[in-house]
Amino acid sequence: MINTNILEIKEKINDAAVRSSRSPQDIKLLAVSKTLPADAVREAAEAGLFLFGENRVQEARDKAPLLRSMLPGINIQWHLIGNLQKNKAKYAVQFFDLIHTLDSEDLADILNKEAKKIGKIQNVLVQIKLSDEETKHGISELDALGLVEHINRLSNLKLQGLMTIPPFFEDPEDVRPYFTKLRLLRDKMKEQRSSLPELSMGMSHDFEAAIEEGATIVRIGTAIFGQRR
Ligand SMILES: *Cc1c(COP(=O)(O)O)cnc(C)c1O
Repeated sequence: MINTNILEIKEKINDAAVRSSRSPQDIKLLAVSKTLPADAVREAAEAGLFLFGENRVQEARDKAPLLRSMLPGINIQWHLIGNLQKNKAKYAVQFFDLIHTLDSEDLADILNKEAKKIGKIQNVLVQIKLSDEETKHGISELDALGLVEHINRLSNLKLQGLMTIPPFFEDPEDVRPYFTKLRLLRDKMKEQRSSLPELSMGMSHDFEAAIEEGATIVRIGTAIFGQRR
């Protein structure tokens, strides 16, 4: 099941890339394994995936050793896609290859300090909030450039790009303008000499539109693993 889902998604990623004159190799498939048991991750890893996204630090840290014993020699990379509390920053830095949800200078300072302590250069994305939905995390478009410049001054953070979680619409075409907006924001920042190669956008039901608008990381859960409980 997981195996065939992955094959199908890879094909759709390929098609969307070709449609938009992009190389499929430039698009990373991040399997969102939050709430799922280690066994599900193992199945996906055996089907060739090696990037996994979790939204809670502790859950990821619990899963990783299980995977190491199930699949010795296979190197899984973990990404944090959920909101990060400052008191978990230390553990996040110890564990994650990429943190998608950096959205304040305070958090940047703490992550930088923790990364410095362990001699790591921590890869991060800035999470942008493109709509006024109160519940969403992320920094506003208006304040984003200031945060980007702040991060660029920190020695132990490496800013890789931008991430967004748009509001939910049934029809992916209604989400597309948000994807376009994130790409344009990235392009604007590039002019101001911030290189931001990664755009983390697109989920199970809208990743094709996201790819057509420039996504380099698509975060896919249910389309791989089925409905979460
Ligand atoms: C859960 C989650 C996803 C995956 O959503 P699906 O609709 O299951 O693909 C992607 N991104 C973030 C930030 C999430 O929390």
